[in-house]
Amino acid sequence: MKIIDNIKDLKAEISCFKGSIGLVPTMGALHDGHKSLIDRAVKENDNVVVSVFVNPIQFGAGEDLDKYPRQLQKDASLCENAGVKIVFAPKVSEMYSDRKDNLTLICPPYDAVNKLCGKSRPGHFDGVCSVVAKLFNLTKATRAYFGQKDAQQLFIIKKMVKDLDFDIEIVPCPIVRESDGLALSSRNKYLTEKERKIALNISKALFSTKNLFDSGVKDIRTLTDNCLEIMKELDVEYIEFADRNSFELLQNEADNNTIILVAARTPETNTRLIDNINL
Ligand code: AMP
Repeated sequence: MKIIDNIKDLKAEISCFKGSIGLVPTMGALHDGHKSLIDRAVKENDNVVVSVFVNPIQFGAGEDLDKYPRQLQKDASLCENAGVKIVFAPKVSEMYSDRKDNLTLICPPYDAVNKLCGKSRPGHFDGVCSVVAKLFNLTKATRAYFGQKDAQQLFIIKKMVKDLDFDIEIVPCPIVRESDGLALSSRNKYLTEKERKIALNISKALFSTKNLFDSGVKDIRTLTDNCLEIMKELDVEYIEFADRNSFELLQNEADNNTIILVAARTPETNTRLIDNINL
């Protein structure tokens, strides 16, 4: 396996590849959630590239860009053991030769971003789409693997690929959780012991609300109240119900095509966590 930090060497390596190329874009601090994407990519492709890049243009002012966990050597050994051919870990200056406000960006439409995570993180999905598009171009990937944990991101990237005719297959991968239900996230590293217990209420709320729905309750007001009650120790940014295909937000009744999406902050370290569940 090679660790590559520049575009020239990446292109040279990629040009020697034979067969299909799987790409797993990440920001590093790899955990079993990332590993599930990597394992699937290795299984389905002749060559796999994992990118490890904490993408500054998807972070807003005051967000955790500086403290985001960075552990390239550990990430690289996970990738090597999984059968990855290239870890692409460029410096910011290698990816962006200019300031964000002087770069050509891919901006998803207002309807897709003016809700859920996009609402509290203006410009976030411009940064995500732009870096992902660069990675698609640089790696010439046949398939790219994304987790359903970032459901709005997955929706927006699938839309970008369709709208701009990228010649790539997007492979959605299920959410990987700890045995007690907490969705794995690189940001879980920020949590204190007490917060780890409180954070567990996010997945508990989602599972409980799914059970309530399965028992016949469809009213979104009632289902939302159930979530809020279980998450009362968290600072809830949003609980929304959406159609999982169109991502249109729903107000009245949930059905079998509904996804519940949550973002919430923990009380001590103010860590922002997201999770979702399909009904
Ligand atoms: P990140 O490093 O957080 O940008 O995530 C890189 C990719 O891993 C994204 O496609 C995420 O959706 C995916 N991912 C992160 N956490 C999980 C998880 N718990 N289960 C499945 N996929 C995940």
